[in-house]
Amino acid sequence: AVGGTAQVGVTGLAVMGRNLARNLARHGHTVAVHNRTAARTRALVEGFGHEGAFVPARTAEEFVAALERPRRVLVMVRAGAPTDAVLDGLAPLLDEGDVVVDGGNAHFADTRRRERRLRERGVHFVGAGVSGGEEGALNGPSIMPGGSPEAWAALRPLLEDIAAKAADGAPCTAHIGPDGAGHFVKMVHNGIEYADMQLISEAHDLLRHVAGYEPARIAEVFRTWGTGRLDSYLIRITAEILAHADPVTGRPFVDVVADAAEQKGTGRWTVQTALDLGVPVSGIAEAVLARSLSGHTRLREASAGLPGPHRPPLAEEDAAYFADQIEQALYASKLVSYDQGWHMMRAASEEYGWGIDPGTVAAVWRGGCIIRAAFLDRVRAAFAADPALPTLLADEGFAGEVGEAQPAWRSAVAEAVRHGVPVPGLSAALASYDALRAGRLPAALVQAQRDYFGAHTYRRTDRAGVYHTLWGGDR
Ligand code: NAP
Repeated sequence: AVGGTAQVGVTGLAVMGRNLARNLARHGHTVAVHNRTAARTRALVEGFGHEGAFVPARTAEEFVAALERPRRVLVMVRAGAPTDAVLDGLAPLLDEGDVVVDGGNAHFADTRRRERRLRERGVHFVGAGVSGGEEGALNGPSIMPGGSPEAWAALRPLLEDIAAKAADGAPCTAHIGPDGAGHFVKMVHNGIEYADMQLISEAHDLLRHVAGYEPARIAEVFRTWGTGRLDSYLIRITAEILAHADPVTGRPFVDVVADAAEQKGTGRWTVQTALDLGVPVSGIAEAVLARSLSGHTRLREASAGLPGPHRPPLAEEDAAYFADQIEQALYASKLVSYDQGWHMMRAASEEYGWGIDPGTVAAVWRGGCIIRAAFLDRVRAAFAADPALPTLLADEGFAGEVGEAQPAWRSAVAEAVRHGVPVPGLSAALASYDALRAGRLPAALVQAQRDYFGAHTYRRTDRAGVYHTLWGGDR
Protein backbone atom coordinates (compact mmCIF):
# COMPACT_ATOMS: atom_id res chain seq x y z
CA ALA A 1 0.00 0.00 0.00
CA VAL A 2 1.09 3.55 -0.64
CA GLY A 3 1.58 5.56 2.51
CA GLY A 4 0.09 8.92 3.40
CA THR A 5 1.91 12.21 3.90
CA ALA A 6 1.90 12.68 7.68
CA GLN A 7 5.36 12.24 9.17
CA VAL A 8 4.07 11.11 12.53
CA GLY A 9 0.79 10.14 14.13
CA VAL A 10 -0.50 10.70 17.64
CA THR A 11 -3.39 8.64 18.99
CA GLY A 12 -4.84 9.55 22.39
CA LEU A 13 -5.50 13.27 22.51
CA ALA A 14 -6.08 14.01 26.19
CA VAL A 15 -3.79 16.70 27.66
CA MET A 16 -0.53 14.85 27.06
CA GLY A 17 -1.24 13.59 23.54
CA ARG A 18 -2.76 16.88 22.43
CA ASN A 19 0.20 18.88 23.66
CA LEU A 20 2.77 16.51 22.16
CA ALA A 21 0.90 16.66 18.83
CA ARG A 22 0.96 20.48 18.99
CA ASN A 23 4.64 20.43 19.90
CA LEU A 24 5.39 18.22 16.86
CA ALA A 25 3.28 20.42 14.55
CA ARG A 26 4.90 23.60 15.85
CA HIS A 27 8.23 22.08 14.82
CA GLY A 28 7.04 21.76 11.23
CA HIS A 29 5.99 18.11 11.21
CA THR A 30 2.74 17.01 9.62
CA VAL A 31 0.87 15.16 12.37
CA ALA A 32 -1.94 12.67 11.88
CA VAL A 33 -4.19 12.86 14.95
CA HIS A 34 -6.67 10.34 16.27
CA ASN A 35 -8.64 9.69 19.43
CA ARG A 36 -11.18 7.03 20.41
CA THR A 37 -13.74 9.79 20.98
CA ALA A 38 -13.70 11.89 17.83
CA ALA A 39 -14.72 15.09 19.65
CA ARG A 40 -11.19 15.43 21.04
CA THR A 41 -9.70 15.19 17.55
CA ARG A 42 -12.06 17.89 16.30
CA ALA A 43 -11.33 20.10 19.29
CA LEU A 44 -7.59 19.85 18.66
CA VAL A 45 -7.85 20.77 14.98
CA GLU A 46 -10.39 23.55 15.62
CA GLY A 47 -8.49 25.01 18.55
CA PHE A 48 -4.92 24.66 17.35
CA GLY A 49 -5.08 23.90 13.61
CA HIS A 50 -3.41 27.26 12.93
CA GLU A 51 -0.25 26.13 14.78
CA GLY A 52 0.77 23.63 12.11
CA ALA A 53 -0.27 20.80 9.82
CA PHE A 54 -2.68 18.28 11.35
CA VAL A 55 -4.40 15.44 9.51
CA PRO A 56 -7.46 14.42 11.55
CA ALA A 57 -8.49 10.76 11.37
CA ARG A 58 -11.81 9.34 12.55
CA THR A 59 -10.83 5.69 12.56
CA ALA A 60 -7.66 3.72 13.24
CA GLU A 61 -7.67 2.70 9.53
CA GLU A 62 -7.80 6.33 8.39
CA PHE A 63 -5.12 7.21 10.92
CA VAL A 64 -2.70 4.53 9.75
CA ALA A 65 -3.39 5.32 6.09
CA ALA A 66 -2.50 8.97 6.67
CA LEU A 67 1.08 8.13 7.66
CA GLU A 68 4.15 8.01 5.45
CA ARG A 69 6.08 4.75 5.63
CA PRO A 70 7.74 3.39 7.58
CA ARG A 71 5.13 4.74 9.97
CA ARG A 72 5.83 6.46 13.25
CA VAL A 73 2.96 6.29 15.71
CA LEU A 74 2.85 7.79 19.19
CA VAL A 75 0.29 6.22 21.54
CA MET A 76 -0.67 8.55 24.39
CA VAL A 77 -3.57 6.83 26.13
CA ARG A 78 -4.26 5.81 29.70
CA ALA A 79 -1.68 3.32 30.93
CA GLY A 80 -2.67 -0.32 31.49
CA ALA A 81 -5.53 -2.08 29.68
CA PRO A 82 -6.33 0.92 27.41
CA THR A 83 -2.78 0.79 26.01
CA ASP A 84 -3.21 -2.91 25.20
CA ALA A 85 -6.59 -2.22 23.59
CA VAL A 86 -5.12 0.48 21.36
CA LEU A 87 -2.08 -1.65 20.43
CA ASP A 88 -4.32 -4.62 19.62
CA GLY A 89 -6.33 -2.39 17.30
CA LEU A 90 -3.27 -0.95 15.60
CA ALA A 91 -1.16 -4.08 15.21
CA PRO A 92 -3.08 -5.70 12.29
CA LEU A 93 -2.98 -2.38 10.40
CA LEU A 94 0.79 -1.94 10.64
CA ASP A 95 3.56 -3.19 8.40
CA GLU A 96 7.04 -4.50 8.99
CA GLY A 97 9.44 -1.73 9.91
CA ASP A 98 6.78 0.57 11.40
CA VAL A 99 7.56 2.14 14.77
CA VAL A 100 5.04 2.41 17.60
CA VAL A 101 5.85 4.48 20.67
CA ASP A 102 3.99 4.20 23.97
CA GLY A 103 4.54 7.52 25.70
CA GLY A 104 2.28 6.68 28.66
CA ASN A 105 3.39 5.74 32.14
CA ALA A 106 3.59 2.01 31.49
CA HIS A 107 5.22 -0.45 33.86
CA PHE A 108 8.47 -1.60 32.25
CA ALA A 109 7.40 -5.26 32.49
CA ASP A 110 4.33 -4.47 30.34
CA THR A 111 6.60 -2.70 27.88
CA ARG A 112 8.85 -5.76 27.64
CA ARG A 113 5.81 -7.95 26.95
CA ARG A 114 4.39 -5.56 24.32
CA GLU A 115 7.78 -5.20 22.65
CA ARG A 116 8.09 -8.97 22.27
CA ARG A 117 4.65 -9.31 20.76
CA LEU A 118 5.06 -6.53 18.24
CA ARG A 119 8.56 -7.67 17.36
CA GLU A 120 7.03 -10.96 16.18
CA ARG A 121 5.15 -8.91 13.59
CA GLY A 122 8.29 -7.00 12.60
CA VAL A 123 7.01 -3.82 14.27
CA HIS A 124 9.41 -1.80 16.42
CA PHE A 125 7.83 -1.03 19.77
CA VAL A 126 9.30 1.76 21.85
CA GLY A 127 8.45 2.40 25.49
CA ALA A 128 9.17 6.07 26.05
CA GLY A 129 9.07 7.72 29.43
CA VAL A 130 7.83 11.30 29.11
CA SER A 131 8.28 13.71 32.01
CA GLY A 132 7.32 17.32 32.44
CA GLY A 133 3.53 17.06 32.67
CA GLU A 134 1.16 19.02 30.50
CA GLU A 135 3.40 22.06 30.18
CA GLY A 136 6.46 19.98 29.34
CA ALA A 137 4.59 18.04 26.65
CA LEU A 138 3.82 21.32 24.89
CA ASN A 139 7.05 23.21 25.36
CA GLY A 140 9.64 20.49 25.78
CA PRO A 141 9.56 17.37 27.92
CA SER A 142 12.36 15.06 28.93
CA ILE A 143 11.92 11.91 26.83
CA MET A 144 13.39 8.50 27.74
CA PRO A 145 12.85 6.06 24.86
CA GLY A 146 13.64 2.35 25.09
CA GLY A 147 13.59 0.19 21.97
CA SER A 148 15.63 -1.03 19.04
CA PRO A 149 18.47 1.11 17.61
CA GLU A 150 16.53 1.18 14.29
CA ALA A 151 13.50 2.62 16.05
CA TRP A 152 15.66 5.24 17.76
CA ALA A 153 17.19 6.22 14.40
CA ALA A 154 13.69 6.71 12.97
CA LEU A 155 12.43 8.69 15.96
CA ARG A 156 15.51 10.69 16.81
CA PRO A 157 14.87 13.74 14.58
CA LEU A 158 11.30 14.06 15.90
CA LEU A 159 12.16 13.54 19.56
CA GLU A 160 15.16 15.86 19.47
CA ASP A 161 12.95 18.58 17.97
CA ILE A 162 10.25 18.41 20.64
CA ALA A 163 12.38 17.62 23.72
CA ALA A 164 13.47 20.22 26.25
CA LYS A 165 16.94 21.65 25.71
CA ALA A 166 19.55 21.61 28.46
CA ALA A 167 21.54 24.74 29.30
CA ASP A 168 24.20 23.69 26.76
CA GLY A 169 21.54 23.33 24.06
CA ALA A 170 21.55 19.52 23.99
CA PRO A 171 18.10 17.94 23.60
CA CYS A 172 16.85 16.13 26.72
CA THR A 173 16.31 12.80 25.02
CA ALA A 174 18.55 9.88 24.12
CA HIS A 175 18.33 6.19 23.37
CA ILE A 176 18.20 4.66 26.86
CA GLY A 177 18.41 0.98 25.83
CA PRO A 178 16.24 -1.85 24.48
CA ASP A 179 12.61 -2.75 25.31
CA GLY A 180 11.69 -1.70 28.87
CA ALA A 181 14.78 0.40 29.59
CA GLY A 182 13.09 3.74 28.86
CA HIS A 183 10.05 3.10 31.02
CA PHE A 184 12.29 1.71 33.76
CA VAL A 185 14.35 4.90 33.79
CA LYS A 186 11.17 6.98 33.85
CA MET A 187 9.98 4.93 36.85
CA VAL A 188 13.24 5.61 38.69
CA HIS A 189 12.90 9.29 37.76
CA ASN A 190 9.54 9.32 39.51
CA GLY A 191 10.97 7.50 42.51
CA ILE A 192 13.73 10.07 42.81
CA GLU A 193 11.08 12.76 42.47
CA TYR A 194 9.29 11.29 45.51
CA ALA A 195 12.56 11.27 47.48
CA ASP A 196 13.48 14.85 46.57
CA MET A 197 10.00 16.17 47.40
CA GLN A 198 10.12 14.43 50.78
CA LEU A 199 13.57 15.84 51.59
CA ILE A 200 12.54 19.36 50.64
CA SER A 201 9.38 19.05 52.72
CA GLU A 202 11.39 17.86 55.73
CA ALA A 203 13.73 20.83 55.32
CA HIS A 204 10.67 23.07 55.37
CA ASP A 205 9.37 21.34 58.50
CA LEU A 206 12.68 21.94 60.30
CA LEU A 207 12.82 25.58 59.28
CA ARG A 208 9.26 25.95 60.51
CA HIS A 209 9.33 24.09 63.80
CA VAL A 210 12.96 24.16 64.90
CA ALA A 211 14.15 27.46 63.39
CA GLY A 212 10.71 28.97 64.01
CA TYR A 213 10.45 30.63 60.58
CA GLU A 214 7.16 31.57 58.92
CA PRO A 215 6.42 30.21 55.40
CA ALA A 216 7.13 33.55 53.71
CA ARG A 217 10.55 33.63 55.31
CA ILE A 218 11.19 30.00 54.38
CA ALA A 219 10.30 30.94 50.80
CA GLU A 220 13.17 33.43 50.93
CA VAL A 221 15.52 30.77 52.28
CA PHE A 222 14.56 28.37 49.47
CA ARG A 223 14.92 31.13 46.89
CA THR A 224 18.47 31.74 48.10
CA TRP A 225 19.25 28.02 48.10
CA GLY A 226 17.92 27.87 44.54
CA THR A 227 20.70 30.17 43.38
CA GLY A 228 23.35 27.72 44.59
CA ARG A 229 24.05 24.03 44.25
CA LEU A 230 20.43 23.17 45.08
CA ASP A 231 19.25 25.07 41.98
CA SER A 232 16.35 22.95 40.70
CA TYR A 233 12.77 23.05 39.52
CA LEU A 234 11.45 21.50 42.75
CA ILE A 235 13.25 24.07 44.94
CA ARG A 236 11.93 26.90 42.74
CA ILE A 237 8.30 25.78 42.87
CA THR A 238 8.60 25.17 46.62
CA ALA A 239 9.72 28.79 47.13
CA GLU A 240 6.73 29.94 45.08
CA ILE A 241 4.28 27.74 46.99
CA LEU A 242 5.59 28.96 50.36
CA ALA A 243 5.30 32.60 49.28
CA HIS A 244 1.69 32.04 48.19
CA ALA A 245 -1.15 33.21 50.46
CA ASP A 246 -4.51 31.44 50.34
CA PRO A 247 -6.92 33.90 48.67
CA VAL A 248 -9.85 32.67 50.80
CA THR A 249 -8.35 33.01 54.28
CA GLY A 250 -5.20 35.05 53.68
CA ARG A 251 -3.26 32.38 55.53
CA PRO A 252 -0.07 30.79 54.15
CA PHE A 253 -1.29 28.46 51.43
CA VAL A 254 0.72 25.52 52.78
CA ASP A 255 -1.23 25.75 56.05
CA VAL A 256 -4.64 25.29 54.42
CA VAL A 257 -3.66 22.21 52.42
CA ALA A 258 -4.72 18.90 54.03
CA ASP A 259 -1.61 16.99 55.07
CA ALA A 260 -2.44 13.58 53.59
CA ALA A 261 -0.25 13.00 50.54
CA GLU A 262 -1.54 10.92 47.66
CA GLN A 263 0.30 8.77 45.15
CA LYS A 264 -0.46 7.40 41.74
CA GLY A 265 1.84 4.44 42.18
CA THR A 266 5.11 4.99 40.33
CA GLY A 267 6.97 5.49 43.62
CA ARG A 268 5.53 2.24 44.91
CA TRP A 269 6.54 0.48 41.67
CA THR A 270 10.06 1.80 42.12
CA VAL A 271 10.34 0.41 45.64
CA GLN A 272 8.72 -2.92 44.76
CA THR A 273 11.11 -3.31 41.83
CA ALA A 274 14.10 -2.26 43.93
CA LEU A 275 13.24 -4.92 46.52
CA ASP A 276 13.12 -7.54 43.75
CA LEU A 277 16.48 -6.36 42.43
CA GLY A 278 17.93 -6.33 45.95
CA VAL A 279 18.88 -2.67 45.82
CA PRO A 280 18.46 -0.50 48.95
CA VAL A 281 16.65 2.63 47.76
CA SER A 282 15.95 3.90 51.27
CA GLY A 283 15.40 7.51 50.19
CA ILE A 284 12.62 6.58 47.78
CA ALA A 285 11.19 3.98 50.18
CA GLU A 286 11.01 6.47 53.08
CA ALA A 287 9.26 8.96 50.81
CA VAL A 288 6.66 6.38 49.77
CA LEU A 289 6.19 5.32 53.43
CA ALA A 290 5.90 8.93 54.61
CA ARG A 291 3.11 9.57 52.10
CA SER A 292 1.42 6.38 53.23
CA LEU A 293 1.68 7.30 56.93
CA SER A 294 0.29 10.77 56.28
CA GLY A 295 -2.93 9.22 54.97
CA HIS A 296 -3.58 7.03 58.02
CA THR A 297 -5.90 9.49 59.70
CA ARG A 298 -7.24 7.20 62.43
CA LEU A 299 -3.79 6.08 63.43
CA ARG A 300 -2.60 9.67 63.56
CA GLU A 301 -5.58 10.82 65.60
CA ALA A 302 -5.10 7.95 68.05
CA SER A 303 -1.43 8.91 68.45
CA ALA A 304 -1.83 12.68 68.64
CA GLY A 305 -1.63 12.84 72.43
CA LEU A 306 1.57 10.84 72.85
CA PRO A 307 4.35 12.64 74.69
CA GLY A 308 7.23 14.33 72.89
CA PRO A 309 9.86 16.89 73.76
CA HIS A 310 8.80 20.44 74.57
CA ARG A 311 11.44 22.63 73.04
CA PRO A 312 10.97 26.21 71.97
CA PRO A 313 12.21 27.22 68.52
CA LEU A 314 15.85 28.27 68.35
CA ALA A 315 16.95 31.80 69.07
CA GLU A 316 17.33 34.01 66.00
CA GLU A 317 21.09 33.69 65.71
CA ASP A 318 21.07 29.92 66.22
CA ALA A 319 18.21 29.63 63.74
CA ALA A 320 20.26 31.23 60.97
CA TYR A 321 23.13 28.88 61.71
CA PHE A 322 20.70 25.96 61.75
CA ALA A 323 19.22 27.00 58.39
CA ASP A 324 22.68 26.71 56.87
CA GLN A 325 23.05 23.25 58.38
CA ILE A 326 19.77 22.22 56.79
CA GLU A 327 21.01 23.34 53.39
CA GLN A 328 23.99 21.04 53.82
CA ALA A 329 21.85 18.17 55.10
CA LEU A 330 19.44 18.60 52.21
CA TYR A 331 22.18 18.65 49.61
CA ALA A 332 23.99 15.61 51.01
CA SER A 333 20.74 13.65 51.40
CA LYS A 334 19.69 14.55 47.89
CA LEU A 335 22.99 13.28 46.55
CA VAL A 336 22.63 9.98 48.44
CA SER A 337 19.01 9.50 47.32
CA TYR A 338 19.76 10.23 43.67
CA ASP A 339 22.76 7.91 43.91
CA GLN A 340 20.44 5.11 45.06
CA GLY A 341 18.41 5.67 41.88
CA TRP A 342 21.54 5.18 39.79
CA HIS A 343 22.39 2.08 41.78
CA MET A 344 18.99 0.70 40.87
CA MET A 345 19.40 1.51 37.17
CA ARG A 346 22.80 -0.18 37.16
CA ALA A 347 21.34 -3.33 38.77
CA ALA A 348 18.45 -3.49 36.28
CA SER A 349 20.75 -2.80 33.37
CA GLU A 350 22.85 -5.82 34.38
CA GLU A 351 19.79 -7.98 35.07
CA TYR A 352 18.15 -7.28 31.71
CA GLY A 353 21.26 -6.61 29.62
CA TRP A 354 20.15 -3.07 28.80
CA GLY A 355 23.52 -1.34 28.68
CA ILE A 356 22.13 1.87 30.22
CA ASP A 357 24.75 4.61 30.26
CA PRO A 358 24.46 6.43 33.61
CA GLY A 359 25.76 9.73 32.26
CA THR A 360 23.22 9.72 29.44
CA VAL A 361 20.39 9.43 31.96
CA ALA A 362 21.74 12.42 33.90
CA ALA A 363 22.02 14.39 30.66
CA VAL A 364 18.41 13.62 29.69
CA TRP A 365 17.16 14.72 33.13
CA ARG A 366 18.87 18.14 32.96
CA GLY A 367 15.81 19.77 31.38
CA GLY A 368 12.06 19.28 30.91
CA CYS A 369 11.44 16.84 33.74
CA ILE A 370 10.28 17.38 37.31
CA ILE A 371 13.68 16.57 38.85
CA ARG A 372 15.63 18.86 36.52
CA ALA A 373 18.45 20.41 38.50
CA ALA A 374 21.72 22.19 37.93
CA PHE A 375 23.61 19.48 39.78
CA LEU A 376 22.59 16.86 37.20
CA ASP A 377 25.11 18.34 34.81
CA ARG A 378 27.79 17.50 37.36
CA VAL A 379 26.37 13.99 37.70
CA ARG A 380 26.59 13.69 33.91
CA ALA A 381 30.21 14.85 33.99
CA ALA A 382 31.13 12.45 36.81
CA PHE A 383 29.74 9.46 34.89
CA ALA A 384 31.24 10.69 31.62
CA ALA A 385 34.64 10.71 33.31
CA ASP A 386 34.05 7.19 34.67
CA PRO A 387 30.93 5.29 33.48
CA ALA A 388 31.84 2.45 35.88
CA LEU A 389 31.73 4.74 38.93
CA PRO A 390 30.06 2.49 41.55
CA THR A 391 28.65 5.48 43.47
CA LEU A 392 28.61 9.24 43.02
CA LEU A 393 30.36 9.40 46.38
CA ALA A 394 33.40 7.83 44.69
CA ASP A 395 33.64 10.98 42.57
CA GLU A 396 36.20 13.29 44.11
CA GLY A 397 34.08 16.43 43.78
CA PHE A 398 30.93 14.96 45.31
CA ALA A 399 32.88 13.10 47.99
CA GLY A 400 34.54 16.37 49.01
CA GLU A 401 31.22 18.18 49.26
CA VAL A 402 29.55 15.47 51.32
CA GLY A 403 32.62 15.18 53.51
CA GLU A 404 32.37 18.89 54.24
CA ALA A 405 28.60 18.72 54.75
CA GLN A 406 28.52 15.70 57.02
CA PRO A 407 29.04 17.42 60.40
CA ALA A 408 26.19 19.85 59.64
CA TRP A 409 24.08 16.98 58.28
CA ARG A 410 24.48 15.15 61.60
CA SER A 411 23.65 18.29 63.60
CA ALA A 412 20.52 18.89 61.55
CA VAL A 413 19.27 15.32 62.03
CA ALA A 414 20.20 15.37 65.74
CA GLU A 415 18.39 18.67 66.26
CA ALA A 416 15.35 17.24 64.48
CA VAL A 417 15.36 14.24 66.81
CA ARG A 418 15.75 16.48 69.89
CA HIS A 419 12.77 18.59 68.77
CA GLY A 420 10.68 15.54 67.86
CA VAL A 421 10.37 16.52 64.21
CA PRO A 422 10.29 13.42 61.97
CA VAL A 423 12.90 13.45 59.22
CA PRO A 424 12.79 9.94 57.73
CA GLY A 425 14.33 11.06 54.45
CA LEU A 426 17.23 13.05 55.88
CA SER A 427 18.03 10.45 58.53
CA ALA A 428 17.73 7.47 56.16
CA ALA A 429 20.14 9.13 53.75
CA LEU A 430 22.59 9.76 56.59
CA ALA A 431 22.23 6.16 57.78
CA SER A 432 22.92 4.94 54.25
CA TYR A 433 26.02 7.13 54.08
CA ASP A 434 27.29 5.87 57.44
CA ALA A 435 26.51 2.25 56.63
CA LEU A 436 28.30 2.37 53.30
CA ARG A 437 31.43 3.93 54.78
CA ALA A 438 31.50 1.67 57.87
CA GLY A 439 34.31 -0.86 58.04
CA ARG A 440 32.16 -3.43 59.83
CA LEU A 441 28.40 -3.70 59.84
CA PRO A 442 26.05 -5.34 62.35
CA ALA A 443 25.30 -7.78 59.52
CA ALA A 444 27.99 -10.00 61.09
CA LEU A 445 25.82 -10.54 64.15
CA VAL A 446 22.75 -11.09 61.98
CA GLN A 447 24.61 -13.85 60.14
CA ALA A 448 25.59 -15.45 63.45
CA GLN A 449 21.96 -15.36 64.62
CA ARG A 450 20.81 -16.92 61.36
CA ASP A 451 23.31 -19.69 61.82
CA TYR A 452 22.21 -20.21 65.43
CA PHE A 453 18.50 -20.70 64.87
CA GLY A 454 18.38 -21.84 61.26
CA ALA A 455 21.76 -23.40 60.49
CA HIS A 456 21.95 -20.91 57.63
CA THR A 457 25.79 -20.99 57.76
CA TYR A 458 28.20 -18.06 57.62
CA ARG A 459 31.48 -17.03 56.05
CA ARG A 460 34.53 -16.01 58.06
CA THR A 461 36.73 -12.98 57.78
CA ASP A 462 39.95 -14.96 58.26
CA ARG A 463 39.54 -17.99 55.98
CA ALA A 464 37.63 -19.16 52.92
CA GLY A 465 34.66 -21.49 52.94
CA VAL A 466 31.20 -21.81 54.44
CA TYR A 467 30.79 -22.65 58.13
CA HIS A 468 28.18 -23.80 60.56
CA THR A 469 28.65 -23.86 64.33
CA LEU A 470 27.03 -26.55 66.47
CA TRP A 471 25.28 -24.26 68.90
CA GLY A 472 24.68 -25.77 72.33
CA GLY A 473 22.71 -24.35 75.16
CA ASP A 474 19.03 -23.87 75.71
CA ARG A 475 17.29 -24.41 72.35
P1 NAP B 1 -5.25 9.97 30.44
O1 NAP B 1 -6.32 10.66 31.21
O2 NAP B 1 -4.30 9.12 31.14
O3 NAP B 1 -5.94 9.09 29.27
C1 NAP B 1 -6.98 9.61 28.47
C2 NAP B 1 -6.78 9.17 27.04
O4 NAP B 1 -6.79 7.75 26.92
C3 NAP B 1 -7.90 9.67 26.16
O5 NAP B 1 -7.39 10.01 24.89
C4 NAP B 1 -8.81 8.46 26.10
O6 NAP B 1 -9.64 8.45 24.98
C5 NAP B 1 -7.79 7.37 25.99
N1 NAP B 1 -8.34 6.07 26.31
C6 NAP B 1 -8.69 5.61 27.55
N2 NAP B 1 -9.15 4.34 27.45
C7 NAP B 1 -9.08 3.99 26.14
C8 NAP B 1 -9.38 2.82 25.41
N3 NAP B 1 -9.85 1.73 26.03
N4 NAP B 1 -9.21 2.82 24.08
C9 NAP B 1 -8.71 3.91 23.46
N5 NAP B 1 -8.40 5.05 24.09
C10 NAP B 1 -8.57 5.09 25.42
O7 NAP B 1 -4.50 11.07 29.54
P2 NAP B 1 -3.20 11.95 29.84
O8 NAP B 1 -3.24 12.56 31.19
O9 NAP B 1 -3.05 12.81 28.65
O10 NAP B 1 -2.02 10.87 29.87
C11 NAP B 1 -1.72 10.03 28.78
C12 NAP B 1 -0.61 9.08 29.20
O11 NAP B 1 0.55 9.85 29.51
C13 NAP B 1 -0.93 8.26 30.43
O12 NAP B 1 -0.35 6.99 30.29
C14 NAP B 1 -0.24 9.01 31.54
O13 NAP B 1 0.10 8.16 32.61
C15 NAP B 1 0.98 9.53 30.83
N6 NAP B 1 1.58 10.73 31.41
C16 NAP B 1 0.81 11.72 31.90
C17 NAP B 1 1.40 12.86 32.43
C18 NAP B 1 0.54 13.97 32.96
O14 NAP B 1 1.11 14.90 33.53
N7 NAP B 1 -0.77 13.94 32.78
C19 NAP B 1 2.77 12.99 32.43
C20 NAP B 1 3.54 11.98 31.90
C21 NAP B 1 2.94 10.85 31.39
P3 NAP B 1 -11.14 9.08 25.09
O15 NAP B 1 -10.96 10.55 24.86
O16 NAP B 1 -11.89 8.41 23.99
O17 NAP B 1 -11.68 8.77 26.45
